[in-house]
Amino acid sequence: MTYEQCVDNFDREHLWHPYTSTINPLPTYKVKRAKGCIITLEDGTELVDGMSSWWCAVHGYNHPVLNRAIEEQLKNMSHVMFGGLTHEPAIALGKLLLKIVPPSMQKIFYADSGSVAVEVALKMAVQYQFAAGKPEKNNFVTIRSGYHGDTWNAMSVCDPVTGMHSLFGSALPVRYFVPAPQCRFDAEWDEKDILPLKETIEKHHQTLAGLILEPIVQGAGGMRFYHPQYLREAARLCREYGLLLIFDEIATGFGRTGKLFAWEHAGVEPDIMCIGKALTGGYMTFSAVLTSDKVADCISSHEPHAFMHGPTFMGNPLACAVACASVNLLLSSGWDEKVKRIEAQLREELLPAAGLPQVADVRVLGAIGVIEMKNPVDMAWMQRRFVEEGIWVRPFGRLVYIMPPFIISKEELTKLTSGLLKIVREITC
Ligand SMILES: *Cc1c(COP(=O)(O)O)cnc(C)c1O
Repeated sequence: MTYEQCVDNFDREHLWHPYTSTINPLPTYKVKRAKGCIITLEDGTELVDGMSSWWCAVHGYNHPVLNRAIEEQLKNMSHVMFGGLTHEPAIALGKLLLKIVPPSMQKIFYADSGSVAVEVALKMAVQYQFAAGKPEKNNFVTIRSGYHGDTWNAMSVCDPVTGMHSLFGSALPVRYFVPAPQCRFDAEWDEKDILPLKETIEKHHQTLAGLILEPIVQGAGGMRFYHPQYLREAARLCREYGLLLIFDEIATGFGRTGKLFAWEHAGVEPDIMCIGKALTGGYMTFSAVLTSDKVADCISSHEPHAFMHGPTFMGNPLACAVACASVNLLLSSGWDEKVKRIEAQLREELLPAAGLPQVADVRVLGAIGVIEMKNPVDMAWMQRRFVEEGIWVRPFGRLVYIMPPFIISKEELTKLTSGLLKIVREITC
């Protein structure tokens, strides 16, 4: 199949796609349907999905259980406002979430996307400090190579380089950045790793509301896996200096790293936690911000006795219903065995790439496999070659990586990894 057969002229002329030009856009392939791990293009080409549509579709596509949950909810109502009203899907989802998140997380704020969850978390931290009599504690510290979304404040805590601060920096609030943790997930802990964070917090804690980071796995900002001890040390510093610890588990949540949530690798509970992406199994945009009674009650016991945020589609019943179905399906599906099997297979089938001269590093954690190249890849060329190989993988920068749906079969995964390696080999140093 050729790219031209899959191009849609209206799409090319009028529809803006993420991170691309309107004059000379990267190719977009038109999808007819998707089921299980297979994305079928307009011309019938079948692609094995290596992306889970950006961490979301953990059960694959078009799942009968998730379809039914939405259909059933649709018969009752697709939406009602959450101001002054509530409904069973929101309550059922809350009960379900409380069983799987850190025990100290007791209050749940439903939001509409990952970026909005991050905005909400940051606002919560600022309002908490205000209520606690520390209004001057209103800034944030974070680690480099992070990704927290594309809205204003989320962007302000993204890695300054990959997060496009050169473009927007002059309009963004200025945050404190410390180097990304250097100690790898499975390496020996080096206590020097925490020193930059320690120094920054010691110096600036009077103005810091909180520390935000992605626990263990830094996703779109660099696909890095770091040492759990970093989180323990960071949590200690936050406690000592009165910072709230915010975990962005939007990408890492729901089993992706081999634990249900990545905080479990370190046993460290945050003060505020954001979840999203796989929350609805990739069916709808939805997210949640969770926090402790301590934080929620402090905010609520001071003027204006309310947390000041309320999206129109807060607690959307369709999203809550499909999230309930997705989480229940995950918990009853033996997700941990599936992720372990994927991890073992990724190690076996991707590690041989580590010997190639064009490859800088290969790493695997849970159902995430990363090949880091020495040089940035030509995305349009690579994407096209992947499609020709019958796989869907979207590289960025020097990173070629996969995080497939957990239901992927052994054969489908082999098709992904062998296609990946074949194309990586075609790149010359
Ligand atoms: C994707 C992502 C976000 C942003 O979520 P959106 O739903 O795209 O707004 C925030 N944080 C992390 C860690 C993410 O991976």
